[in-house]
Amino acid sequence: MATGHEFTSVGQPQRTQKLKRQKTNMQQSDTTGGSGILDAVVVGAGFAGLYMVKRLADQGRTVRCIEAASDVGGTWYWNKYPGAQCDVESLEYSYGFDNALQQDWHWTERFARQPEILAYARHVADRFNLRRHIRFDTRVESAVYDESSRLWQVTLAGGETLRTRICIMGTGNLTAPRVPDIPGLDRFKGRWYHSSRWPNEGVDFTGMRVALIGTGSTGIQITPVVAAQAAHLTVFQRSPNFVVPGINRDLDPQHVRAYKATYPETRLVAKHSQYGVAGMLPPTQSAFDVSPQERQARYEKMWGFGSHTPFLTAFTDLLLDQKANDTAADFVRGKVREIVKDPKVADILTAFDHPLGARRLCAGNNYYETFNRPNVTLVNVKPAPIETFTEKGLVAGGVEHEFDIVIFATGFDAMTGALREIDIRGRGNQSLNDKWKDGPATYLGLMIAGFPNLFIITGPGSPSVKSNVVLSIEQHVDWISDCLAALDQRGIETIEADAQAEANWVAHVNEVAAPTLYVKTDSWYTGANVPGKPKVFMPYVGGIGRYRKICDEVAADNYRGFVLRPKTPATA
Ligand code: NAP
Repeated sequence: MATGHEFTSVGQPQRTQKLKRQKTNMQQSDTTGGSGILDAVVVGAGFAGLYMVKRLADQGRTVRCIEAASDVGGTWYWNKYPGAQCDVESLEYSYGFDNALQQDWHWTERFARQPEILAYARHVADRFNLRRHIRFDTRVESAVYDESSRLWQVTLAGGETLRTRICIMGTGNLTAPRVPDIPGLDRFKGRWYHSSRWPNEGVDFTGMRVALIGTGSTGIQITPVVAAQAAHLTVFQRSPNFVVPGINRDLDPQHVRAYKATYPETRLVAKHSQYGVAGMLPPTQSAFDVSPQERQARYEKMWGFGSHTPFLTAFTDLLLDQKANDTAADFVRGKVREIVKDPKVADILTAFDHPLGARRLCAGNNYYETFNRPNVTLVNVKPAPIETFTEKGLVAGGVEHEFDIVIFATGFDAMTGALREIDIRGRGNQSLNDKWKDGPATYLGLMIAGFPNLFIITGPGSPSVKSNVVLSIEQHVDWISDCLAALDQRGIETIEADAQAEANWVAHVNEVAAPTLYVKTDSWYTGANVPGKPKVFMPYVGGIGRYRKICDEVAADNYRGFVLRPKTPATA
């Protein structure tokens, strides 16, 4: 994950840790033939950066990857909070580019936990000898396009500037953590942590009074794990989220063997599916094509199957029709009331203010059950927001609550945050922040008009967060690598999105999203979770199979919608 931003509001322990991390990186020899000009700089060594570096190196290009963290892994490096795990099945949430890799790697659980996914990212880095291209503990501060040389000047914290023909942002979509602007945090005498800046050594909650702020996918994973250890956990919920069971289990070796026997075929199915997941057949029926009993039975089956995406694919119209959605929401409400013993607590947990799935549907492990524990309290801060922190804790609704530890599971400046924290300037010194002041605009989520040779992996306007993101990453990396090879062959020096093609793509992204319930809901998909951020629905929800086809057609049609400029005699 990304390197673009300096997160200042971290808990005290991390602040010192960060200062100590200004250590020297591996010295990288000059492989540029003395010119000092790199073929490519890749920002971020998460799943996107790693595969991008591999493809570029395989093509014989000189490449430097710059990573703020001390190791590879991106999201899975930073998000080591208690309970962190993926909710896409591990056999699918992994690279498919190398059959030997997918045959050799051994996933232990149906849904991998953070340490195992991080170990996988490290394995990939080592297996393909990628670390030699990566500089860790280094942030990118700016990337400025020099029109006269047609090179990007990428300036790193510390002042060094790299010159490169191609600049590729693998900065991730959930990278820039957000701590809400609640006054008084500096007065709080206890410890506080953001879920995405968790200390490497972990946090011991034994005997502690803990506050958890936020009940998104992260907060619901943290809740049961901390509750099991802390003296007391108080969960501050502003908006309840729908939580379906995660249902994790050890992978059965026989199942894995059978799965691996047809891995390439399965990956192919995933590539042309809606969400990038092969194990789910697309729905064929509306929620009203079946009787209420049958509908209930199907929800029951999905509830028992576990994880979020299968539940959303129970019927064709769950994300299109409010009434259809209400049937699923009512089903979950009923489940919560069955599980949670205190009806008042169940009421707070089910005061849903958005359609099911219009915000990220969460997959939990005993989330609702945790509220039956005597050491867990739920506080509804919707009617009575958190007003201030104090020396001893925080005040909400005029009541002071005392804590030893506060956990912020308050999310991210999603999709654009990491890019906006790098001072990116294109032709005419135009700043990306200025260009995106009313919301991000890209062509295919891959490139931006006015920013030649700057690629974004899973950028806004691509399926990215609405898909199995590893698969979407591979699609983008393959597209970019093939594009660069094609341009070299034709003597093309720069590629840039055409402004009209970009505008048409933004219109298409909106057109596809318009009939869905996503756009009727405030969420991080629309930027609504960050005060002052323009409200624009950012991901492409036309499906990853359809999106891939469009990208392939664009490439086959001589990169339709891109402006290609040949080398000049001076640069040839
Ligand atoms: P999130 O979904 O944005 O949730 C942030 C939470 O913080 C929300 O409940 C929000 O309430 C609350 N919040 C923010 N400011 C607050 C305030 N001032 N007072 C009280 N509550 C406040 O962030 P996240 O949970 O970190 O998840 C982000 C995304 O990461 C997920 O949607 C998912 O895509 C990904 N993720 C995936 C997994 C997985 O694969 N299993 C796990 C974790 C995260 P409101 O809703 O009222 O704003």
